[in-house]
Amino acid sequence: MLQIKGISKQYRTGELVQQALNDVSLNLRDNEFVSILGPSGSGKTTLLNVIGGLDRYDAGDLVINGISTKEYKDRDWDAYRNHTIGFVFQSYNLIPHQTILANVELALTIGGISRNDRRERARKALEEVGLGDQLHKKPNQMSGGQMQRVAIARALVNDPEVLLADEPTGALDSETSIQVMELLKKVAGNRLVVMVTHNSELARQYSTRIVKLRDGRVTDDSDPFLPEETPEGAGHKRMGKAKMSFLTSLSLSFNNLWTKKGRTILTAFAGSIGIIGIALILALAEGVNGYISDIQKSTMTSYPITISSQSVDMSGIMGARGGRWENEVSAEGNRTRVYADYSAIESSEEMASNIKENNLTAFKEYLDNPESEIHQYLGENGVVYSYGAHFGIYSYDADGNLVASDADIDQVSVSTLSSEDSAAGGGPAANMERMNQVMSGSSDL
Ligand code: ADP
Ligand code: MG
Repeated sequence: MLQIKGISKQYRTGELVQQALNDVSLNLRDNEFVSILGPSGSGKTTLLNVIGGLDRYDAGDLVINGISTKEYKDRDWDAYRNHTIGFVFQSYNLIPHQTILANVELALTIGGISRNDRRERARKALEEVGLGDQLHKKPNQMSGGQMQRVAIARALVNDPEVLLADEPTGALDSETSIQVMELLKKVAGNRLVVMVTHNSELARQYSTRIVKLRDGRVTDDSDPFLPEETPEGAGHKRMGKAKMSFLTSLSLSFNNLWTKKGRTILTAFAGSIGIIGIALILALAEGVNGYISDIQKSTMTSYPITISSQSVDMSGIMGARGGRWENEVSAEGNRTRVYADYSAIESSEEMASNIKENNLTAFKEYLDNPESEIHQYLGENGVVYSYGAHFGIYSYDADGNLVASDADIDQVSVSTLSSEDSAAGGGPAANMERMNQVMSGSSDL
């Protein structure tokens, strides 16, 4: 039994306050077919939504089976909507991409019933509304009357105590309207049906009680009901689970994604663009780093620091010889005397004095010691040892003469000087040639 006690409801849109329900009181029996009639905007839909727990009232009370809903929590409302109420809307509200069987089944998935059980009950509900042979059609393959019957099957599959219908025939022609009304009358045989309608003809023909609304007030009631106060043992019946199991919601989500494959793939791709971008930038940076270190490595190999067993202080040699030569040039004008040229002796002396022996044994020990700090400065190629042995390569030239084809040894023949030039002294060019002779280990002087 539902008792509506002095319920008021206002809608506020900005400045405008709309009184949708104004102190409405109504008691509904457990088993009757109530039609609510009234002009548009009189509050019929609002009243139905309040009864069904879809909307909240501002003032008054809704008493369900003797229990006030003033203290209801969200969970209680969920359970009430799920187990006590079935809804039928004017616009059917079916899910277009699912078969009608799946649509009806969906109303049961929330109740936590096993899959086979659900299928069986959905099939039975559809058979009851005369659609047992069209289970696998989609809503858009059906007529309006058939869709409304699917909606009624969906509302009834949970076997609710109350069926609420908001203008169920509003979008139907008179013939299909009659079919739907017949169905609702049958349904009302063992439960409470509250139907909102514009059609007073149909209301009078099929319902057992007519309530008229105007401006949010009840103006007429054809069969008022005044129960004695709070019946004994009143309480909520069948308040069960009103939650989907995790697996059910997961499979519903996948089903939904699967029916919109293209969009899902596009969305997934769009979502991953950011990740792809970051991955690309990281890959690029990594690649460039690798390239730079490769270039560094190969450049460094062609410019190694070479440490040989002997070293020559070139600047020492140049400085000493250059200075002495200058003096000799200044004295050149007068050739009346014979000068002894000690330059060759001096240069080899200087050479010898500027050659230093490196202590390679100690240096190698230093390099081999894993604790020496040199290791942090070594490049990728590390330390390479080689022996200073020269193997000259000789071959015959076009005239049949034996020549050295190795560049170092070839210098011997290239750097041959005329004795005249060296006697004449000469400037820095001659000096350079002398250097060549010294370095290649031969002299024409
Ligand atoms: P009926 O179903 O009888 O045509 P309703 O119950 O839908 O009437 O609406 C009653 C009044 O409340 C109307 O004046 C309507 O404009 C107003 N109303 C209904 N729903 C809302 C809402 N969500 N927001 C603001 N006003 C609303
Ligand atoms: Mg309405």
